[in-house]
Amino acid sequence: MGNVYASSVNEMRDIPGAWRRTAVGAGLIGSDHSARTRSSSDPQPRLAAARPTIFAEMSALAARTGAVNLGQGFPDEDGPIEVLEAARAAISNGVNQYPPGRGIPDLLLAIAEHQRRFYGVHLDPQRDVLVTAGATEGLAAALLALIGGPEDEVVVFEPHYDSYAAVVALAGARLVTVPLRWPDFQPDLEELRAAVSDRTRIILVNDPHNPTGAVFGRELQDEVIRLAERHDAIIVTDEVYEHLVFDQPHVPIATLPGAWERTLTISSGGKTFSTTGWKIGWVTGPADQVDAVLTVKQFLTYVNGAPFQPAIATGLRLPDAFFAAAAQTLRDKRDILGAGLRSAGFDVSQAAGTYFTVVDAAPLGVSDAADFCRGLADRAGVVAIPLTAFVTSARRPEYATLVRFAACKRVDVLEEAASRLAVIRG
Ligand code: PMP
Ligand code: GLN
Repeated sequence: MGNVYASSVNEMRDIPGAWRRTAVGAGLIGSDHSARTRSSSDPQPRLAAARPTIFAEMSALAARTGAVNLGQGFPDEDGPIEVLEAARAAISNGVNQYPPGRGIPDLLLAIAEHQRRFYGVHLDPQRDVLVTAGATEGLAAALLALIGGPEDEVVVFEPHYDSYAAVVALAGARLVTVPLRWPDFQPDLEELRAAVSDRTRIILVNDPHNPTGAVFGRELQDEVIRLAERHDAIIVTDEVYEHLVFDQPHVPIATLPGAWERTLTISSGGKTFSTTGWKIGWVTGPADQVDAVLTVKQFLTYVNGAPFQPAIATGLRLPDAFFAAAAQTLRDKRDILGAGLRSAGFDVSQAAGTYFTVVDAAPLGVSDAADFCRGLADRAGVVAIPLTAFVTSARRPEYATLVRFAACKRVDVLEEAASRLAVIRG
C-alpha cells in the first residue's frame, strides 16, 4: 500500500463534487486543477489530488525526522488540572451520551458568565450561546448558514487561518482579502474600505490574529462596524486567542457601539486551556443569528464532546489569576523564542498575542520560505510554517520569505530549537 501520506499528494481519478473547490479555495490544489498525466496503461484522466494541510504536512515531517515541531500550534504541556479532572469525573459519572443540541446548560451558563466577567456582555445563556465542535465548526456553520449564494462576498484579512478560504469556497461564495503587511501586520483602512461593498455578506475578523500575532486596535474595529452597518453585512469574529494577549486586554468587537446586533463572536477552549484536541467551541450573539447557525450546525456534528463540556465550564470559571498567568507564560515564551530567532539571523516581528511569532528569513538569503521550511527539518532539526500557506496565490510573492514559528512549547523545547537554529547562520 505504501505510504498513505505520500500517495495523498499525488493524483487521482476525476471525482466530481464540492470537495475540489474547497481544496482549491484552501490552496491545496492549484486553481487550474493542475491536470496531470494520462498514462498509456490508464486511459482515465488523472487530476491532482488535494495535498494535506500545511499543519498536517509539517507535523508529519516533524514526526518523521524527529525535528522540534514549532509548526502546528498546539501546546506540549497539559493545561489546568481542575479542567482535566473535571473531564475524568464527567466520564466516570456517566456524562457520555448526546448532550443537548445547544450544549449542556451549565456550559452555556459558564460561557455567558465568562463574557460578562471579562467583557461586560450580558447574554441569555439559553438563547444567545451555542456550543460547537471547536471554533472550526462554529466558523464553518456560521459561514454556511449566512452565505446566500455565489454573489455573496466574505471579506477577510490576509494572511488568514486556512479554514476560512476553504469554507467560503465550499459555500460557493467569493473571498475578498485585505492584506496585512510585514512587520506590524496592521491593515490599511483605505484598503479595507475598498474591499467592502454591498456584495459583502460577512466581514470575518480574527483578533488576536493567526498567523501574524497581530492584535487590532479600536480604530480598525470601529471601521469594521461602520462598514458593516453601511453595507448591511454581518461581522463574524474568531477570538480563539482572546486570553493570549500580551499588552492590553482583549476587546471583542461585539462589545463596541453599533456592533452587537450584527455580530457573531466565536471562540473555543482549546488555546486557553491547552486542550486543542477536545474541540469545544462556542458562538455567541443575538438569538436569531445564533439560531441560524444552530440550524446548520445540528447537521454537521449535531453535538460533540459531552464529558469535555462540563470540563470547559470549569475552566471558564477559573479565577482571573489563571487567565493572567496563561498570557504571561506565553509572553515569556514569545520572548525566549524571539531571542533565539534573532540570534539565528531572522528579522522578528514581535507578536502582541497568540501562539505565534512571524519572522523574515530574507536576511539568511532565503527567497522561498516554503522550500526553506521543508528543508529546515533536515538542516536544523526544527519545523515551522511558511506564511504563503495562509495567503491566496496572487499574493504569495509578497509573503515569500516569511515564516511562522509556534511559541506554545515547553521552555526547554524552545531553547533546544533556538540552539539548533544557530546552525543556519553558517
Ligand atoms: N481559528 C484560529 C485563528 C485558529 O488558530 C484555530 C486553531 N486552532 C482555530 C480557529 C480552530 O480552533 P478549534 O481548535 O477550537 O476548532
Ligand atoms: N490552529 C493551528 C495552527 O494554526 C492548527 C490547527 C490545524 O491543524 N488545523 O497551527
